[in-house]
Amino acid sequence: MTVGPVDRDDATADFFAGTAAGRLLLRQCEHGHYSEPAVTQCTTCGSLRLDWAPAGGGASLVSWAVTWSQENVPTVLVIAELDEGPWWWSQLTGADPAGLAVGTRLRVAFARPDGDHEAVPVFKLVG
Ligand SMILES: [Zn+2]
Repeated sequence: MTVGPVDRDDATADFFAGTAAGRLLLRQCEHGHYSEPAVTQCTTCGSLRLDWAPAGGGASLVSWAVTWSQENVPTVLVIAELDEGPWWWSQLTGADPAGLAVGTRLRVAFARPDGDHEAVPVFKLVG
């Protein structure tokens, strides 16, 4: 299982304009709380006044699962807590799953599973 090609629609156009520019955009209310991109109100205070705000790109590993191809190549799917608070589900690329631990530092990167489709956030190990 890998991250497959995705395309923008009216609801995701702003988000994918960000990923195309190398930015992971979150929603932020007037009180500074961050929420995941798909929400229509702040997940902390309920505010309906949300703007887009770029995440810094840092995250910590919360949990992961590994699948193995027939050629014994691992695919690592992770849940990571962004430094801004929201959790993000994606693929961790270029990492040996044997070295992972809860709290492992990650950074957001972007991949284009198919060059004709949108850039999607993935994670890489820090360092
Ligand atoms: Zn809020």
